[in-house]
Amino acid sequence: MIQVIAFDLDDTLWAVRPVIINAEKRLDEWLQQEVPRLNYDVSSMRELRHELLEEEPDLVNKITEFRRSLIERAMLLSQIDANEATDLSNQAMAVFLTARNDVEFYEGAIDAISMLADKFILGALTNGNADISRLGLDSYFSFAFSAEEVGASKPADNLFKRALAHTGTEPRQMIYVGDNPVLDIDAANRVGLHTVWVQHPGQENTGETSADENIDHIRHLPQAIDRMLARFNADHAGE
Ligand SMILES: [Mg+2]
Repeated sequence: MIQVIAFDLDDTLWAVRPVIINAEKRLDEWLQQEVPRLNYDVSSMRELRHELLEEEPDLVNKITEFRRSLIERAMLLSQIDANEATDLSNQAMAVFLTARNDVEFYEGAIDAISMLADKFILGALTNGNADISRLGLDSYFSFAFSAEEVGASKPADNLFKRALAHTGTEPRQMIYVGDNPVLDIDAANRVGLHTVWVQHPGQENTGETSADENIDHIRHLPQAIDRMLARFNADHAGE
C-alpha cells in the first residue's frame, strides 16, 4: 500500500525561473551596494564557472557551494583578500537564499499538499536549494533532501534511495511527483517508484518511460492519487 508521496520542488510546486531571476537581481543589488570594488556582476561571473568546475568538479552537485565559490572567486580576482572574500561571499549567499525561498506556489498547490498530508507521509527531493522550513512546508513535509546533501543530482538514484531508507519503505510504497520527464519520471521509474508527471502546457515527454498518471496542474494531484489507489485496490482485490 502507498505510504509516502515525495515531491520535486522547482517547477512542480512553483515556477522556478522568476524566482531565480529575482534572487539574482537581489544578489546583484547587494553586491553593488556592499562590494563596489567587485569587478563582476552575476552575469559576468558566469564566465568563471568553467575554470572553477575544472578545479573542483564536485561542485557540479553542490549548487549552493558552487554559487558561493563563484562569488568568492570573482572577489579574489577583484583583489579582495581571502578572508574578506570568504566572509562576503557567505553574506552574499544569505541574500540570494532568502530571495530563492521567496516563491509563489502554483494555485491550489498548498491545498493539495495539505489534503494529502492527512493520509500520507510527504517529503521533498530536490536538485535545487529551496528550503522547506523557509517555505513553510515543514508542517506538511516530514523529510526533505537535496542533491547537495546526498552527493548526486537526479537522475541519479541517491535522492530516491535516501527517501526510501529514511521512511523505511519499499519502492512500491512510494509515489514520486515531478515535472521533468528525465530527471524526475524516468529516474523514479528506474528505482521502481510510482510516478505522477506534472506536465506543463506544451511540454513534451522527452523521457524514455511514462508516468502512472499525468496531470496538467498540481491542483489535480489528489484526484490522480485517488485513481492510482483505486487501480491498486482493484489489482489486489481478493488477495
Ligand atoms: Mg522540477
